[in-house]
Amino acid sequence: MNRSIHSFSYSPLASRVIFGAGRRADIAAEAARLDCKRPIIITTRDQRYLGEEVAQQFEPATSSLFDDATMHTPWEITQRALGQAKEAGVDCVIAIGGGSAIGLSKAIALQTDLPQVAVPTTYAGSEVTPIIGETRNGEKRTQRTLKVLPEVVIYDVDLTLSLPASISAASGLNAIAHAVEALYAQDENPVTSLIAEEGIAALATSLPDVITAPSSVNARRIAQYGAWLCGTCLGTVGMGLHHKICHVLGGTFNLPHAQTHAVMIAHVASYNAQAAPHAMASIARALEADSACAGLYDLARELRVPQALKDLGMPEEGIDRTVELVMKNAYSNPRSPDAKALRIMLERAWIGFPAAPIE
Ligand code: NAD
Repeated sequence: MNRSIHSFSYSPLASRVIFGAGRRADIAAEAARLDCKRPIIITTRDQRYLGEEVAQQFEPATSSLFDDATMHTPWEITQRALGQAKEAGVDCVIAIGGGSAIGLSKAIALQTDLPQVAVPTTYAGSEVTPIIGETRNGEKRTQRTLKVLPEVVIYDVDLTLSLPASISAASGLNAIAHAVEALYAQDENPVTSLIAEEGIAALATSLPDVITAPSSVNARRIAQYGAWLCGTCLGTVGMGLHHKICHVLGGTFNLPHAQTHAVMIAHVASYNAQAAPHAMASIARALEADSACAGLYDLARELRVPQALKDLGMPEEGIDRTVELVMKNAYSNPRSPDAKALRIMLERAWIGFPAAPIE
């Protein structure tokens, strides 16, 4: 028999997941299952209208809307939202939006233990992870705690139809990056790996259709299913070099989150390729490509996402600083960090050269 299974630990995360077109109509009923009637509803300014729509599912004057969620969860904004939640006497948090709205919801849950209903509108995956990143005094800190895992997640495909093609593509590659790193994680396990391969395949087959026909409900539904699976991988195993680099780039140079992931993932897969042959075989299979690296690079080109860190606003002098910060703290990765190789990889990514193996 050409099959083997190593010993492993696996901790599935307990969230209730509701999936389907129009299912945001169930938000108040899901809140009621948690014994909640007085929510604070979190959105970004652009998506305030969605928060207003959700408020209509509750009795008049029982909900409180906070529309100032911001990327990277700034501490000052969390304090304002907490003040509003306290004043309104809320009993749960409902986030409707991308990772920024869900991040603020988690920050409130961290301080209050209030239950959460998350209704994602991008492919970032935060809704199914026990991870929270918060920015205070210019420094972003991330922690894992079950306190921030939303109790209920509602995937309503209709909410993703308005996500512009370019953001959909970058956000989808952000999701794929979670699954890629899950496949070579130190704590990888057969269940998460199954989910990862299926998640990559679902996104890789649907995203090209999403960008050519952004209102295709079928393509959007498959992309959202893939995003859920990839987010689940992020939630259940540890991430490696790719997430470390993107965290440093986002935090130090304020680069856009999803686009930074989209530029870097093929480069980091190339960096790790020789040290993680099983993961690479799985990624290549999911992408129906000759190799993981070529498949990721070709997908990014097909999706027309930015190819160069310089186009995202990173200064060239930032390469040295990034290498220094990435080398500073230990994290798990199949290939040990090597300053010289990292610099070569980042120079290539800064210019926008294709990903290539680095000795
Ligand atoms: P985002 O939430 O910042 O959204 C980007 C922009 O797109 C916003 O202006 C938003 O209003 C708009 N938008 C969102 N959905 C839309 C839609 N359907 N139609 C039209 N516009 C829409 O972006 P993101 O990439 O989803 O999230 C990034 C944030 O999430 C970062 O802070 C990142 O650190 C965090 N994140 C956290 C985790 C975790 O597990 N903790 C995982 C992934 C991302």
